[in-house]
Amino acid sequence: MNTPASKTAVDRHYDLIIIGTGSGNSIPGPEFEDQSIAIIEEASFGGTCLNVGCIPTKMYVHAADVALQTAESGRLGLDAEVNSVDWPGMVSRVFENRVDPIATAGEEYRRGPQTPNIDVYDQHAVFVGERTLRTGQGVHQRTISGDQVVVAAGSRPVIPEAIAASGVPYHTNEDIMRLPQLPKSLVIIGGGYIAMEFAHVFDALGTDVTIIARSTLLRNLDEDLHDRFNALAAERFDVRFGRTTMAADQTEEGITLRLDDGSTATGEVLLVAAGRIPNGDLLDLPSGGIETIGAGRLKVDQYGRSTSAPGVWALGDVSSPYMLKHVANAEMRAVRHNLLNPEKLQKMPHDHVPAAVFTHPQIATVGMTESQARKHGHNVTVKVQDYGDVAFGWAMEDTTGICKLIADQDTGKLLGAHYMGPQASTLIQQMITVLAFDLDVRQFAAKQYWIHPALPEVTENALLGLKFK
Ligand SMILES: Cc1cc2nc3c(=O)[nH]c(=O)nc-3n(C[C@H](O)[C@H](O)[C@H](O)COP(=O)(O)OP(=O)(O)OC[C@H]3O[C@@H](n4cnc5c(N)ncnc54)[C@H](O)[C@@H]3O)c2cc1C
Repeated sequence: MNTPASKTAVDRHYDLIIIGTGSGNSIPGPEFEDQSIAIIEEASFGGTCLNVGCIPTKMYVHAADVALQTAESGRLGLDAEVNSVDWPGMVSRVFENRVDPIATAGEEYRRGPQTPNIDVYDQHAVFVGERTLRTGQGVHQRTISGDQVVVAAGSRPVIPEAIAASGVPYHTNEDIMRLPQLPKSLVIIGGGYIAMEFAHVFDALGTDVTIIARSTLLRNLDEDLHDRFNALAAERFDVRFGRTTMAADQTEEGITLRLDDGSTATGEVLLVAAGRIPNGDLLDLPSGGIETIGAGRLKVDQYGRSTSAPGVWALGDVSSPYMLKHVANAEMRAVRHNLLNPEKLQKMPHDHVPAAVFTHPQIATVGMTESQARKHGHNVTVKVQDYGDVAFGWAMEDTTGICKLIADQDTGKLLGAHYMGPQASTLIQQMITVLAFDLDVRQFAAKQYWIHPALPEVTENALLGLKFK
């Protein structure tokens, strides 16, 4: 057993301490039954994804998709409209009926008789020594230590200084989904994926949306998707490209932002979605001897081990180069394996990480953009396939969807796949498989059936359009 070098008096020593119940909560399974475990969670069980991230946002996105499709169904010969939006009803569908019971049940399970080896601590944790933490249970402060500590503490929204200093009321992903009423107008600071998902949701449900973006929207996308998406977004929202918020005031109409070009933007409600910062800066990591990259991101090696503090591990948003739930889960599986198999360590799985943006049009990407592929010196072949040129695209009367594939002419290997349009996050899965199993795309189209006239024909046609030597 590693006993902590710290001289701090500890109330209890554990085999394993886990900070954070997002992906961290999935570590203790039956294999850990003989270990004493402390789980520390200062907020709701389930973390960001369940409570204030992926899951509730997509429940609203689906409603928004249906509303938008209804509004646009005239092109299919339908005369339909959304007559009203029951926002409070949506809030209860998402939270009261779905998310909150899952979070509560998750906590009860960990506190209950089914996991007798696990103690729950529900107060903010900080390191006070090597593998030693100060936290609490209700009003009781506790100091605990562990042979191993897994930091799975996630991330939080960045609040720009101009907003923090102004004192105006603002919302983030943590509370915007529980607004009591649907606002008439919304100003969003941010041009990343969270901003674009909320812009889609609120606009589709009838709110006027203004977006303040420091540069362009979704600026890391492949160029073709980026340009198309920005053009479409500019038609739909009031987008202030390349603008910084200098100050904010509360007025009768709501919140007014003053921008760096002297212009203003006003909304009944303000949403800040200007990026996320890992939570390590709130953990007093130096007291635990834990190195960071910047203020809050734990520095880990390829196996998820702290580079400076033996016995400390990290996973997910607090340490990962990818702030995505499927990555946090995959890293959790690697760390779980490594805790149990110290002689046979698994690497953090960071190859071919896909991502989706559930905005409108939906976007999904994996691998390199065209410019990255060229920069890496690949002899590239590229095909941009319009959804509108395959049969199901005709059925949908789609005019904006594209699938862009980038491959290496010399090796026949796929380098990147980028979709923008209906079902993008589903269609891309075949290309994720191609990359994960290192398949040759020269054979991928011809060697299998493609159901006619289903939407994956967009992928088939894109593959057939790639040119190889
Ligand atoms: C609006 C939004 C939408 C998103 N949509 C998607 C999506 O569609 N797909 C996708 O892949 N990803 C999405 N993400 C990202 C995804 O939610 C995160 O990558 C993922 O949840 C990170 O998991 P985690 O376990 O690292 O951290 P978290 O789930 O954030 O868990 C960390 C937990 O640690 C607790 N904690 C932190 N510090 C302390 C402390 N000092 N003491 C005690 N407890 C502490 C926190 O309360 C929290 O519960 C979205 C994020 C947001 C904000």
